[in-house]
Formats: sequence, C-alpha cells, structure tokens
Amino acid sequence: TYVGAVEVGTSFKQMLPLFSNSFKVDSAVLLSKQLVKDRMWPKFINAYFNKNPDNDYYIEASSSKKIKAMLASIHVNKNYVTSESTIIEKDNKKYSTYYFPIFDYQATKDKRLPPAGFVLIWEDVSAMINAFQRSFIINIIFSLVAFLCIEMCLLWVLNRENKLSIAERQATLDGLTGLYNRRFYDLSIENSVKRSKQNKEPLALIICDIDFFKRFNDTYGHAVGDQALRQVAKVMKGIAKKYTGIAARYGGEEFVIVLSNTPLDVASRIAEKLREGVESLNIPHQSSSVSTCLTISLGVSCSQNAPDEKSIFEMADANLYLAKEFGRNRVE
Ligand code: GH3
Ligand code: MG
Ligand code: MG
Repeated sequence: TYVGAVEVGTSFKQMLPLFSNSFKVDSAVLLSKQLVKDRMWPKFINAYFNKNPDNDYYIEASSSKKIKAMLASIHVNKNYVTSESTIIEKDNKKYSTYYFPIFDYQATKDKRLPPAGFVLIWEDVSAMINAFQRSFIINIIFSLVAFLCIEMCLLWVLNRENKLSIAERQATLDGLTGLYNRRFYDLSIENSVKRSKQNKEPLALIICDIDFFKRFNDTYGHAVGDQALRQVAKVMKGIAKKYTGIAARYGGEEFVIVLSNTPLDVASRIAEKLREGVESLNIPHQSSSVSTCLTISLGVSCSQNAPDEKSIFEMADANLYLAKEFGRNRVE
C-alpha cells in the first residue's frame, strides 16, 4: 500500500533560464499527457497542468511565453524525434525550431516504452535569414551580370572569328566558281615545289583553258558563260579532290591543278579525265570549231623536268599552247 511519495530533484523552471541564457535560445520542457496521467494523482494533475488540457503534452516549463505559438506551428511526431531543425514564421519573424525526446528511468531500461516528453528549443533567426537572402540575391545579380558579360565577350569573339574566317575564305577563294583563286595558287605552288624537292617527289601541274570561250559568250551571253564556268569548275574540283590535288581558277576561263607526288604519266591520265569530264557535261557550243559541245585544252608538266615554280608553269603553259595548236580538246 502506497502511503506517500517523496520528490527529490530540481525544477525545470529553474534550469531552463540558465540553459536559455547560456545558449541564447528559448526552450521548453513538455511532458506526455499519458505519462502524467499514469504517474500522478488527479489532484496534482489539475493543480499543475491544467493550462493546456487539449494537447497531447503538458507544458512543464518554458523560458518564454511564445511556447504556444511554437507548438501550434511545428509538427511533433509520435516519438518526439526530429532529425533537423524546422524554420517557422510567426509575426514576421523566423524561428529555427528543434526538439528531442527525454526518457524517464523506466524508458531508459525498456526501449519499447515511449519517451516521457521532449525538450523544444527555438531561436529567432530572422536577422540571419534576411542577411542570407540579401547576399543570395546579390550573388544571383552578380552571377547574372558576370554571365551576361562573359556571353557578350564570347559572342563578340565568335563574331570576330566568323568575320575573320569569312574574310580569309574570301581572300583565298574565287567568287564565281568557289575554287581557290590565283592568289592562293601563287602561294601554294611555291610551297608545293619546295616540299616536293625536300621529299624528292614529283610535282605535276595541269593548266586547262576552255576552247573558243569568247565565241561561247558571244553566242549564248555572259550569264550562260558564267554558268558554264561553274560547271567546268565543278569537274575540276571533283577530280582534284579524288587525286588530292589543288584546283584553282587561274584567271578568266583558265584553271590549274596542282598534284603533289604525281609523275608525268599519271598527271597526263588525270588531265585526260578532266578533258573527258568537261566534254561529258555536254554543254552545247555551236560556234566551236572542234566540237558541238564545250571542250577544254590542257597542258601538263612535271617538276622532274622543271627546277622551280616558274618553269613548271611555263612548261605546262607551252604544252597548253601546243594543245591549242594541234586542234584543241586535247592533252599535251
Ligand atoms: P581559245 O580556244 O583560243 O582559248 O579561245 P578563247 O575564245 O577561249 O580565248 P580568249 O582568251 O580569246 O577568250 C577568253 C574569253 O573568256 C574572253 C572572255 O569573254 C571570257 N571570259 C573570261 N572570264 C570570264 C568570266 O568570268 N565570265 C564569262 N562569261 N566569260 C569570261
Ligand atoms: Mg584563255
Ligand atoms: Mg580559251
């Protein structure tokens, strides 16, 4: 038969202000309603804990009157366990809240028993969060400005590169045919001759000239003449690509093809393919004296018989002259 009880302990009401002052936070101790009901005489329950009988817990002690607002805002889980702090807003202020369970003697012995209650801690973090948000926004603005600056620089560089590459292309390509131009040929033939000498390889050159092209223009007009030039250039380009050569428009209706590491007999056969290629375009040329369609004459030379770029060109040109002399639409 129980005849009485002795309480030995320290009141939470005395401990909490000490705790709160030390850590600059507010705190409260809350006891499970069930636990209180099970352990206390009803008379004491009413005397001590009648302030919030509707909740699942009784407020045993609190360092601040704001406890009720905090309790209304947080979600307390069944075992009073939380793993991280929750930010809640009250009266335009932001509070960081955290709670952890407290166990009585029996619950520390028997892990299946629920906690006796929990300690709730809350802290006004409005200033900290506002400062963070301010610096966050400032950072975003800075990032955006930096991003825009970098993008603009990139755009400017790309634009400049683009303009440069267009200018570069325009400087080396012929506008009408898209083949390399005379300027590019002059630069590349010099290098090609040097390289062929260094590597002791033969370098071949083919010069092509359209037959009776003046008459063609006179008969069909300049625009049709331009179109024919484009078609002939396409044949040059195709064959040059196939034999890894360089095709250029030397001027007017004259084209050159530079073939590195190519002996004279191979170059002559390639020249013959060019002649056939143009002939098979079947572009009507009624005023031509050699054919019913547009044809070309070709002169071929090889560095094996020529010491420099000047003489290799002169030899090919002389052979082109011979091709014209011997009746046109042929390779010499
Ligand atoms: P040959 O068989 O002896 O070469 O006779 P040809 O008429 O082709 O020779 P000539 O050099 O007298 O004439 C070349 C012509 O090429 C003159 C010019 O009207 C024409 N020509 C040159 N450049 C262009 C061009 O860009 N477009 C057009 N349509 N014609 C051009
Ligand atoms: Mg000519
Ligand atoms: Mg001609």
